[in-house]
Amino acid sequence: MGRLDGKTVVLTAAAQGIGRATAELFAKEGARVIATDINVDKLKELDAIPGIETHVLDVTKNADVESFASKIDRIDILFNCAGYVANGTILDCEEKDWDFSFDINVKSMYRMCRQFIPKMISQNAGSVINMSSVASSIKGAANRFVYGVTKAAVIGFTKSLAVDFVKHNIRANSICPGTVETPSLDERLASLPNPEQARKDFIARQKMGRFGTAEEIAHLVLYLASDESAFITGQEFVIDGGWSL
Ligand code: NAD
Repeated sequence: MGRLDGKTVVLTAAAQGIGRATAELFAKEGARVIATDINVDKLKELDAIPGIETHVLDVTKNADVESFASKIDRIDILFNCAGYVANGTILDCEEKDWDFSFDINVKSMYRMCRQFIPKMISQNAGSVINMSSVASSIKGAANRFVYGVTKAAVIGFTKSLAVDFVKHNIRANSICPGTVETPSLDERLASLPNPEQARKDFIARQKMGRFGTAEEIAHLVLYLASDESAFITGQEFVIDGGWSL
């Protein structure tokens, strides 16, 4: 028996990294998984996995989110995973950079929740998990200005959602990972002047002396998605190998 038997899950940014690991774990746990992303080729790889169906979805396009949601009747779990890590301080962050990060990291969740919360209300059940980061209101991280601001906003967004819909049996929680080994992390490291040293520096931030794995994060998402966490709402969950200690 799976922990998500009979549940329908929608995930954003499911083609790689944490979103993908979560889609795969949820399918193993018996869910009907609707995995979405903009990366058509990588998303296709998930089609071979029993229990997973895929839809191309750009979370920055309101009309696309609306049309996608109109095709889905029931949803038990929504994992808003899409996000972008912008590098730099406030002085590097032009208005277009601010708008881009807020659009993908926060407004995407607004768009998804506006579509899917009404369905959860009509079912009188639902669990929303939003992707924040330890680089947020939890910890100031160097050169992560707009990223940290958006991820702090996600924590506030989630608490607001939780309090407004608690009487409809809808829960909302956010997760706050430290640095996790994913394809985009590799790209970020590779783009720095000294990738080897940057990798060492990033690892050194986490007191356990290693990066997290996407699978470790997926298990936290599973807990928050499943009925095992039925008494938890509005909380942010740090999973960071001790970075914030
Ligand atoms: P990733 O960055 O490697 O992959 C992100 C995925 O998002 C890609 O498949 C990409 O195609 C997709 N995507 C990009 N723009 C999109 C859009 N407009 N619409 C839909 N999908 C889009 O994955 P990751 O590193 O696991 O990051 C996933 C989330 O986890 C992000 O919100 C990130 O901020 C957060 N996070 C990551 C880390 C980390 O160290 N990797 C730490 C804390 C939080």
